[in-house]
Amino acid sequence: MVKSCGSRIYTPHGRGLWRKILIQWPRFQQCIKWNLCRGNKISFWEDEWLGEGCLMRRYPRIYAIAQNKKIAVEEAYRVTKEKVKWSVFISRNLNDWEISEYGDLLKILEAQQLKTNDDLVVWKLEKKGEFSVTSYCRFLCARDDTDCSSFPAVQIWMTKAPPRIAFFAWEGCWEKILTIDKFSVRGQILINGCYCCFQAEETCNHLLLWCPMPYNLWCMVHGLLGIEWVIAGSVGMEICA
Ligand SMILES: [Zn+2]
Repeated sequence: MVKSCGSRIYTPHGRGLWRKILIQWPRFQQCIKWNLCRGNKISFWEDEWLGEGCLMRRYPRIYAIAQNKKIAVEEAYRVTKEKVKWSVFISRNLNDWEISEYGDLLKILEAQQLKTNDDLVVWKLEKKGEFSVTSYCRFLCARDDTDCSSFPAVQIWMTKAPPRIAFFAWEGCWEKILTIDKFSVRGQILINGCYCCFQAEETCNHLLLWCPMPYNLWCMVHGLLGIEWVIAGSVGMEICA
């Protein structure tokens, strides 16, 4: 059986980093395929290792009656008397309408032979097969139908600001700074009020832009630089401007 990080999450609680990673795993999995070698790291049904797409989607009828849906590729591979035999373990006899699908599966398996070295992961979005953050960002943006070009990456990451300042700006742009309103999302009930002005709720945009204290500070900085300034709707828009 293959132990992968593709296990689904069933519990409604918990917000750990690993949980976030697991939620994104199905998307990530769409971008990788495997080069078959030993077959010990590849899930026979769930990973893409034999042509386009995983076998569970290409042969759904056989997958539905498979005895072990988490089987590794090497567990389905047998060498007896110098003959190679693939065994797709199924839980019952085949029905007439399942025979052709089963035959097709065995046919493409026959051409495969295991090797001694480890299985290799290939990143499908790059020609070299190596992972790159840029290609994955493009993939996620295209899928979410969002415009990556609207994110002020140059203004945040391509400056001379220290990394911790750039990272804080990045957090502010995504409104991920740990303000009081975030506690309610985490199930903690707190009275939400800005401790700077006591006039509004503490949110990322309020704390960094709209609150009178930072607003006056921004006015002073822009005034010193001789820049006419109109307050933006959010931290992200402000950085873009
Ligand atoms: Zn305030």
